[in-house]
Amino acid sequence: MKVFKGNMIYTKEPKRFEILEQGYVTVDDTGRIVSVSKEAPEGIETAHVVDFENHMVIPGFTDLHLHPNQYPNDGLGYNYELMEWIENYATPVNGLYKNEQITRRIFSALIEDLWRYGILHSVQFGALDLRTNDILFEMMIDSGLYCYLGKNHTDYKKDRHEVETTQESMRCAQYLIDKWEGKSPRVHYIMTPSFAPGCTEEMMKWCGEMSRKYKLPLQSHLDENKKEVGMVLDRFTDCKNYAQVYQKYHMFGNDIKTVMAHCVYTTEDEIQALRYAGVYVAHCPHSNCNLGSGIMPLRRYLDMGIKVGLGSDISAGHTLNMMDNMRSAMEMSKVLYVEEGEMPLSTSEAFYLATKGGGSFFGEVGSFERGYLFNALVVEDDAVASIGGHTLEERIERFIYNGDDRQIKQRFVEGKELKKPVFEI
Ligand SMILES: [Zn+2]
Repeated sequence: MKVFKGNMIYTKEPKRFEILEQGYVTVDDTGRIVSVSKEAPEGIETAHVVDFENHMVIPGFTDLHLHPNQYPNDGLGYNYELMEWIENYATPVNGLYKNEQITRRIFSALIEDLWRYGILHSVQFGALDLRTNDILFEMMIDSGLYCYLGKNHTDYKKDRHEVETTQESMRCAQYLIDKWEGKSPRVHYIMTPSFAPGCTEEMMKWCGEMSRKYKLPLQSHLDENKKEVGMVLDRFTDCKNYAQVYQKYHMFGNDIKTVMAHCVYTTEDEIQALRYAGVYVAHCPHSNCNLGSGIMPLRRYLDMGIKVGLGSDISAGHTLNMMDNMRSAMEMSKVLYVEEGEMPLSTSEAFYLATKGGGSFFGEVGSFERGYLFNALVVEDDAVASIGGHTLEERIERFIYNGDDRQIKQRFVEGKELKKPVFEI
């Protein structure tokens, strides 16, 4: 048994922070929380006590949507909209991965940054190429971080320069599932059809079947950009909306744990379908802003009880900094507040999305509640806040608005400190 002592800050519910000033979190040998208390727990005299003193202790972050192979494109090409950006940036970057040493160097930098920003859990949209995914699986397992990772399927040819054959695409995914699924308790396979415009009907049907056969979750994109939605409706004339295409091929929630990125242009029917099928929405505010895609109706989703987490959407989003992603979610919700009167996202709600909201995709992570894994970050105030006489709620607000990775002093996974991953390349 281990007892962690410090200023515990988390969100059981989106509406408010739970704050335990100099509180105690007791963790068993498996890293699960057995008690959270203001008073010292029984048996503390003989327990291993880790005292974080005046630092803030918060749950580790979850990035619900990122494209690891696009990391070299961070911050590039945002004068384009989505389809042009894919053609000019997202597709050409794949050429870099023909060289294994470059591949390992890029992923080493990415994994180090995930660790640095306290992203202990991430849902990664893998590359097309088998070997690139193979290397990333190996490195993610070595890192000690949690992730879902899947091979991107893009086998539909119209208007696309770089595609794969349907059979080859399936063969690669099958190889990766056989090789990696079940190898690690922290790294799992996720079926990853790119998006309806990039997949054949045969591929989408197969992805749904594979999810069921191997009990694998599934990720894709939905209603990101107006032009993309138009392409879907033009091609799938028997479907009355984009979500219905995924429903048609049985790859939309219910018995398959599913996350759809963006969901900016959802119709009323699609919103009901998201809720009914229990589909997660990965809200990617930076990306939606950078590519001029639009503003997701976040308040609507939260009011309806739709599951939402934050996605950096590297590299249509420009940073893994989850504090920056929280800020962007709040800023964009305030634009909708001004334009449409929707109640803006509060600080605790933004924090919830980055911790428990997205974390629940991984099970009991993202909060300090009994039964949850102690996957946590130890945060130091910036120099001024530490002398400013602020309350803990003000200190966490300040960290969300002004904070960066330098303030994250330690990362814990399952009750044990996770040191910076180092890769020999
Ligand atoms: Zn994406």
